[in-house]
Amino acid sequence: MTVNRPAILDANPFVKFGLSTRLGGVSPPPLGMNLSFHVGDLDANVVKNRELFFGSLEIGLADLAIPMQVHSNIVKYADVAGTYPQCDALVTDVPGVFLCVSVADCAPIFLLDNKKKVVAAVHAGWRGTATHLVWTTANMMDNVYGCNPKDIVAYIGPCVSSCCYTVGDDVASRFAPQFLKHDQSRVTLDLKSASISQLTDLGIPNSQIEVSSHCTICDSHLFHSFRRDREKSGRMMGVIGLVPGSN
Ligand SMILES: [Zn+2]
Repeated sequence: MTVNRPAILDANPFVKFGLSTRLGGVSPPPLGMNLSFHVGDLDANVVKNRELFFGSLEIGLADLAIPMQVHSNIVKYADVAGTYPQCDALVTDVPGVFLCVSVADCAPIFLLDNKKKVVAAVHAGWRGTATHLVWTTANMMDNVYGCNPKDIVAYIGPCVSSCCYTVGDDVASRFAPQFLKHDQSRVTLDLKSASISQLTDLGIPNSQIEVSSHCTICDSHLFHSFRRDREKSGRMMGVIGLVPGSN
């Protein structure tokens, strides 16, 4: 059910991390492993899928902190499990609170400070990326939790990649030229590079940023993609948290 486990997060015994694919669920095709209640799937299927996915990580559904994503650059502190309205990133230093993001093309990004034991989960589509959401999240880890950027590791998960992410002038105009590629009649955006740049700007070493090579549109057997499948697209979830008793 998970793919491409990032070495940079798996190296830490006090961290639990997982990222679902479209494989392994009970929902009828094409939804499969759909983890969203908002895409026309039966609630009972979604509950079962969540039990399967989070159960495989030994994380209880009652321990999830879930942002009600709105493509903003708002980060919230999640000290308890539950839902967090109107935000697109969560940060915590509380063991046993497992931070989620829901994606189908947008970039799921996960941050960890090994020393201060702080984690963050970020949902960065073009709007969040254009408004520096991952920079804002890592900066909050620095300012609020005293994290040294040199101690932060980051994983940028599968998302719509520059091979497939054709954008119009309205979106392109929000990004610096180095994140855009012009070929023949189209302009493509590289969300991954834009987020890497925000993280390195803050002082996180490049060697501590791991990036998935997968594209959610190209790798159709593995991933849901809203841009590819529109209303037939399910949603994947990523989760990160500190193991209880780890601080
Ligand atoms: Zn692609």
